[in-house]
Amino acid sequence: MPELKKDISNTKKEFSVILAKVTNENELEKIRLTFLSRQGKIATLMKSLKPLSLDEKKECGPLLNKLKQEIELLYKTKQKELAVQQAQQENLKQKYFDVSAYSPNQLYGGLTPYSQVAQMVEDIFISMGYDIADGPEVETDYYNFQALNIPENHPARDMQDTFWLDVPGMLLRTQTSPIQIRYMENNKPPIAVIAPGRTYRHEATDASHDFTFAQVEGLYIDKNVSISHLLATIKELIQKIFDSKKIDIRVRPGYFPFVEPAVEVDFSCPFCKSGCSVCKQTRWIELVPGGLVHPNVLRHGGIDPSKYSGFAFGLGLTRLVMLKYAINDIRLLHGNKVDFLQQF
Ligand SMILES: [Zn+2]
Repeated sequence: MPELKKDISNTKKEFSVILAKVTNENELEKIRLTFLSRQGKIATLMKSLKPLSLDEKKECGPLLNKLKQEIELLYKTKQKELAVQQAQQENLKQKYFDVSAYSPNQLYGGLTPYSQVAQMVEDIFISMGYDIADGPEVETDYYNFQALNIPENHPARDMQDTFWLDVPGMLLRTQTSPIQIRYMENNKPPIAVIAPGRTYRHEATDASHDFTFAQVEGLYIDKNVSISHLLATIKELIQKIFDSKKIDIRVRPGYFPFVEPAVEVDFSCPFCKSGCSVCKQTRWIELVPGGLVHPNVLRHGGIDPSKYSGFAFGLGLTRLVMLKYAINDIRLLHGNKVDFLQQF
């Protein structure tokens, strides 16, 4: 019996000593488990009451209860103390937290205006049953010129200032038209294909010229294809791009060696009713050169011009992007200026 009394007073001393050293919640939890849990020291002392006589129980029981209450109170007091300390530390941190300090911006990726319009054009042509083709940007003289009815020394070569490579006969393609030939070589009519891609010209850059720009080549070959098929296709495309059935087209004669007859298709300005800066007050915007595929080009593609005819056009994709989003400087399109690109 005196043993139990001794244990009770020792337990209290022991608890006080350990509690005084506690500096955080984890340590506090450890002493709670050691003293106050079901298998803890207090519970063990309670169990040791059992074999004692009634008188002894009457004496020690209240002592044990008192011990338990004291220890619980000390524990809770410490718990509050720690919470206050933690809050103070947190406040201290906040005190020196500069809300105006620089933080790196969250940058989100997105499609460039060029990709958005290219996808729009692709979707429109896919809905008309067209295939999409790709081709190399480094081309041979044959595919870029000769097969397109522009032999060596042909004056039409001067229309396209060319980047020639050090390797003889190799160049950066000046148009997406070489893909026509490559596609004809590998496919039999009827053919309906577009080829969007980057082209290169040896030009000084300014707001409306760049050494690289994007085109969409279009090619349609079947029996009895006429120029009206070309015009209907271009009209449908333009009306869908600008989402307006009111847009009309007009046709002027043109010259490109790979088509005969060649036409320049203009469309009525979707931005004004009586002239604006985009259409240079003319109400018409030049966009699409095209025509019926020259028999020589069909032959180069392995197609018999006495059986088949077709149309081809070269849509200025970069120009279309600039028109669609009212961009007035071509260099912005691949200038990687984030504040510009974020607008789209
Ligand atoms: Zn206009």
